Amino acid sequence: MAVPIVTEANRCLQCKKPMCQQGCPVHTPIPHLIALFKENRLMDAGKELFSNNPMSVVCSMVCDHEAQCAGHCVLGKKGQPVQFYEIEKFVSDAYLDRMKPEIMPPNGKTVAVIGSGPAGMTVAFMLAQNGYSVTIFEEKNMIGGMLQYGIPDFRLPKSILDRYKRRLLEYGVHIRPHVVMGGDLMIDNLFRDGYAAVFVGTGVWRPSTLGIRGETLANVHFGISYLARPSSYTIGETVAVIGMGNVAMDVARTAFRHGARRVMMFQRGSKSPASEHERQFAELDGAEFFFGKSIQRITPEGPVFKNSVLNENGRPIGVEGEDELVRADTVIIAINQGPKDKLVNTTHGLEATERGLLKVDENNMTTREGVFAAGDVVHGSLTVVHAVEDAKNAAQGMMRYMEEHG
Ligand SMILES: Cc1cc2nc3c(=O)[nH]c(=O)nc-3n(C[C@H](O)[C@H](O)[C@H](O)COP(=O)(O)OP(=O)(O)OC[C@H]3O[C@@H](n4cnc5c(N)ncnc54)[C@H](O)[C@@H]3O)c2cc1C
Ligand code: SF4
Repeated sequence: MAVPIVTEANRCLQCKKPMCQQGCPVHTPIPHLIALFKENRLMDAGKELFSNNPMSVVCSMVCDHEAQCAGHCVLGKKGQPVQFYEIEKFVSDAYLDRMKPEIMPPNGKTVAVIGSGPAGMTVAFMLAQNGYSVTIFEEKNMIGGMLQYGIPDFRLPKSILDRYKRRLLEYGVHIRPHVVMGGDLMIDNLFRDGYAAVFVGTGVWRPSTLGIRGETLANVHFGISYLARPSSYTIGETVAVIGMGNVAMDVARTAFRHGARRVMMFQRGSKSPASEHERQFAELDGAEFFFGKSIQRITPEGPVFKNSVLNENGRPIGVEGEDELVRADTVIIAINQGPKDKLVNTTHGLEATERGLLKVDENNMTTREGVFAAGDVVHGSLTVVHAVEDAKNAAQGMMRYMEEHG
C-alpha cells in the first residue's frame, strides 16, 4: 500500500491555486498535507486533517472523490488525477489510533448534543477540545448514525466507529445511548438541567413512501430500515429495488450479500441519480437496471409498472401502455428519506420547513434560542463531508453564543 501512495504524493504538482482543495467541501489543504506526508511528518499531517475534519478517515473512504477532490485535480484534465484520498486514509487511519487529545481547561459550561452521526460527533469533538463538557444523547445503542446503520460494512468497516467512540471518551465526552430526545426526554429538560446550549444532529430517518397500494404487504420493506440490520430480513432470491440513488445501490449490493441471486433496480426517469462510482459497483455485483418504469402498485407476487412517458431531459411526465408485473420475492423501496418530527412537535419555538427540516440562521441557530442544528436534519439527505462542514459552523456559532450569554 505504501508504494502507490508515495507515488501519488510525488505526482502532486503543489499548485499555487489548488483546485482539489476548492473541490473539497471542507477545503482540506491538500498540497500542504502532501508536503508534510513527503517529509514523513505523519502525525503532523494527521493532526491537521483531524482538526479540519474529525471525520477525515471516514471521508477518505466514502466521499464522492470523482466529484470533489480528485475530480478537481488539474492532472485529471489530461490523465489520472492525484488520488489524495488514499493518502488521507493512510494518514488519518494511523492518527485515529495514535492521537493524544489536546483539551483546553474546563470552562464550566455543559452542552448537549442530540444524535451521534458525523454532525454530532464533529460538534462533540470541537466543543470538548475547547473545554466544554459535552453529553451526547443517542436514540440507538451504537454511535455513528448513518455511518453505523446506513453505509454497509463492506464500504465502511464498523470497527472505525468503535475507535471513534474511544476517542470521544478520551476527550471527556459523555455518551447516553438509548435516549430518544422528544420522546424519553425533551429539549426543555436539558435547559432545566443547566445545559448552556443544545446541538441537534438527528439526520433524516423517515423513509419516504410511494403512496401506492401494496406498500403495507409482507413482502415490502424500506431501504434504510433494511440496511440497518439486513440479517433480520428474509428477502428470498429475487429482489426488486425501487429507486436508483446511492442508498438504493447500497441496498442492492447488500441484498446480494444476504442471499439474493437476482436484484433488479427500477427508475422512473432515464438516469440514475447515484454517483457513477456507486452505480458501477452495483453493476459489477450483478444489479440489473431498468429505466423509464413508473411503479403503479405492489402485489404479493411483485411490483407492477407502466412505462414512463419522458420529456426531452429524461424526466417522467406521464405513463403509457399496459401494466407489467415483475415477479420478485421482495420489494425494497429506496427513494428518499425525510426527518422525523419528534423534536419539532415537543419543543416550543423550534420551527421546520415544509419538508420538516429545521430552520437555522447563518450561525446554525434554530428558531429556538440556544438550540443549534446541522447536517441532514437541516439540508435533507446529503453527505458525510457536508454534514461535517455544516457542523463546524454550528460549533463556532455555539461557542460564540455561549461566550455572549455568560
Ligand atoms: C445507505 C446510505 C449510504 C450513504 N452513503 C454515503 C456515502 O457513501 N458517502 C457520504 O458522504 N454520505 C453517504 N450517506 C449520507 C451520510 O451518511 C449522511 O449524510 C450523514 O450521515 C448525515 O450525518 P448527520 O450527523 O446529519 O445524521 P445521521 O448520520 O443520520 O445521524 C443522526 C443521529 O441522530 C440520532 N437521532 C435521531 N433522532 C434522535 C432523537 N430524537 N434522539 C436522539 N438521537 C436521535 C440517530 O439515531 C443518528 O445516530 C449515506 C446515507 C445512507 C442512508
Ligand atoms: S474530505 Fe472528502 S472531498 Fe475532501 S479531500 Fe478528503 S476525501 Fe476528498
